[in-house]
Amino acid sequence: MKINEQFEKLVPNYLFADVAGKTKAFMETHPQQEVIRLGIGDVTLPLAPVVVDAMQQGCEDLRFQKTFKGYPEYEGYDFLRESIADYYKSFGVKIEPEEVFISDGAKSDCGNIGDIFSKENTVLIPDPVYPVYVDANIMAGRKIVYAPSGQQENFLAMPDPKVKADIIYLCSPNNPTGAAYNAAQLKEWVDYALENDAIILYDAAYEAFIREDLPRSIYSIEGARNCAIELCSLSKTAGFTGVRCGYTVVPFELVRGGKRLHDLWYRRQATKFNGVSWAVQCAANAVFTPEGQRQCRLNLDYYHENARMIARTLDDLDIYYTGGKNSPYIWMKCPNGMSSWQFFDYLLENAAVVGTPGEGFGSCGNGFFRLTSFNSHEKTAEAVERIRRLLS
Ligand SMILES: *Cc1c(COP(=O)(O)O)cnc(C)c1O
Repeated sequence: MKINEQFEKLVPNYLFADVAGKTKAFMETHPQQEVIRLGIGDVTLPLAPVVVDAMQQGCEDLRFQKTFKGYPEYEGYDFLRESIADYYKSFGVKIEPEEVFISDGAKSDCGNIGDIFSKENTVLIPDPVYPVYVDANIMAGRKIVYAPSGQQENFLAMPDPKVKADIIYLCSPNNPTGAAYNAAQLKEWVDYALENDAIILYDAAYEAFIREDLPRSIYSIEGARNCAIELCSLSKTAGFTGVRCGYTVVPFELVRGGKRLHDLWYRRQATKFNGVSWAVQCAANAVFTPEGQRQCRLNLDYYHENARMIARTLDDLDIYYTGGKNSPYIWMKCPNGMSSWQFFDYLLENAAVVGTPGEGFGSCGNGFFRLTSFNSHEKTAEAVERIRRLLS
C-alpha cells in the first residue's frame, strides 16, 4: 500500500490561516478598534426570496409519496438544463440543454474534470489565479506550466506560442484579479488551443458580474465549441455558496482520441456522482426565472456599488488596480513598493482594514493585494475612508 505521494508536492497554503492569525492578534491588542474585513471571499447577502420559496416547495414535494423524488439524474433535471440553455440564449450564446451537466459546484468540477484526461497531459495555468486548479492537478500528478501575468498585460495572461500545453485553465472575470478578457483576447486563446489540440477549461463563475461589453461565455468565441469546456456556478451569482449548485457545459463537438468528451464526462459522473438534490435544483431553476434574475441582480448591484467605492478611492489616490467593474474583486498594487505581506501589516496596523496578500494566488501576485466587495455598504465606505486617509 502506497499513499498518493503527489500530496507531498502540494505547497502548504497558510495564507488564510496567517491572515486570520494576524487579524486575531491585532484585535486582541487593539480591543477598542473596529476591524473591517475587505478580504471576505464569500457572499454575504441572503438568497433571493423566490429561490427560498422554490426550495421550500421542493422540500414539500418530498413530504408526499406522489411527489417524492429519489436519486436524481446524474446530469441534472431537464427543466434546469433547459433554463440554463435559455439563460445562455439571453446573452446570445447557443448551447443545447443536453450539453449541460448540473453539479454541486464549480470547485468540484474544476478538479473532477481531470478524470477524463490522461495524467500525461501538460496543464497550463495562469498566475495569479484561483489555487484549486494547481492543487487538483498536482494531486493528479500532471505537469504544470504557468502563464505569468502582471501589470504590463493588466493581469490577463496571454498564450505564448513557444509553450506547449494540452489542458488550459482560464478564469474570467478572474479571481483574484477581477480582470476580464475581451473577445479578441479570448479568440487568441481559442486559436492557441485549436492549434495545439488542447482543451480549455473555462471557469465562468463570475460571468454575471460582467457589466461592460465583454464575453459572458467562451462559446461566444468562434471555434470554442471545438476546444472548450465551461464551468459555472450559482455560488457568487445567486448566493449559493452554502446551497451548492453549479453546471458544466461539454459541447457535443468536443472530440479527442476519437471519443466525445461529453460521453466521457457522462460516464465519469454516472460512476462517481449521484446528482444534486431535487430541492436545490428547484431553487436553482428559480434563479433563471425573470423574477429570480431581477432579485439576484439586486444583490449583484449591491456588491458592484461596494466595488465602485473601492475603485473610486484608488483612482483618487492614483493607485494601479484591475477589477472592480466586472467583478467583486479589486486587485491593487501595494503602495511604495511594499510586498503583499508588508502592505497587509501596514493596512491592518494603521487602518484596521483586512485584505488578502496577492502572493497567496501565485508568485506573480507579490506586490499586489486583493480587496473584495462582499462587506456592507457602511463598512466598505468606512474602510475606504480609512484607506484614503492613510495613503493620501
Ligand atoms: C468561488 C469560485 C468558484 C465557485 O465554486 P463553487 O464550488 O461553485 O462554490 C469557482 N471558481 C472560482 C474562480 C471561484 O472563485
